Amino acid sequence: MSRWQQKSIPFEADASERPWSFPYLLLEGEAAHPKVTIIAAIHGDELNGIRILHELAAYLEETGIPVKGSICLVPVANLMGYTNHSRYLPDRRDLNRMFPGLREGSEGARLAYFIWSHFACDADFLVDVHSGSYNRWNFPHVRGDMKNETMRFYASRLQDQLILTSTGVIGSLRKEAGKLNKPVFLIEAGETGRFEKKIVGAGLVILLQILDAFGFIKYNAEKIGTPIGLQNAPQKEAPRGYYRKAIWQRATHAGLFIPRVDAGAYVSRGDVLGDITDLLGKKRAEILAHEDGRILGMHLHPQVVPGRALFHVAYDFKKF
Ligand SMILES: [Zn+2]
Repeated sequence: MSRWQQKSIPFEADASERPWSFPYLLLEGEAAHPKVTIIAAIHGDELNGIRILHELAAYLEETGIPVKGSICLVPVANLMGYTNHSRYLPDRRDLNRMFPGLREGSEGARLAYFIWSHFACDADFLVDVHSGSYNRWNFPHVRGDMKNETMRFYASRLQDQLILTSTGVIGSLRKEAGKLNKPVFLIEAGETGRFEKKIVGAGLVILLQILDAFGFIKYNAEKIGTPIGLQNAPQKEAPRGYYRKAIWQRATHAGLFIPRVDAGAYVSRGDVLGDITDLLGKKRAEILAHEDGRILGMHLHPQVVPGRALFHVAYDFKKF
């Protein structure tokens, strides 16, 4: 019999009077608390996180690793956006700007309140899984508030991960949970609208390391073996520390964008990150790195205009 309980909580009905029902998985170990809740698809088209949660559930089931406290997995927080293949809610609002929500508020605020009250409030620890938006691909990395000593301690226990200090924007699950002093990490992984096998594998390892850092499991990668889908995960060279800043390097010209580096790459100031050509293939501009750092994410679509965000570069590295 599975250790996971399959559960769901009903929410209001849609316009055709079909009630929404939010499914989740709960694994209760030795006790109900501490409890970690892991939420994916707050942006409804960011699908990698859903699969990462599936694989985490399968992994903990197959290995039978002892779990302290309980683990709650919410694979799709924004069911309405997910149904529409959209990042946003049907009213075009961003669910991740509406936390902690309002019970009698707008439709988005009500959903935020539902997610907040049913899944976030009761959690002692939170993890929120995202992917790059709008034609962007994010190298698998971790974001958290490294100014917070407790969070820095948890982050220092992660192995070979790219970490950016960030508290999130007002109204995001991460920001609002952080205000309550709940330890919360955000994982960024890949792009929207896909299950990317390597990204899912890398995300699974990040999650297992976070669960270990929080004290829920003892995760020994060598002893337990390679998690499902991890083969060739691009995670090997990350240093032990975190980046304190990040900037977007933008297109200087209109034209066709040709990246010269991949997300995850280390770059030095002055390195050529990419070119922009005209329609006949003649080079119009080179995008040069402004900082020594590491590429967190990059633009995927070749057609660009001036100002288009091309590379998200983390810099100002600090060792733990
Ligand atoms: Zn997102």
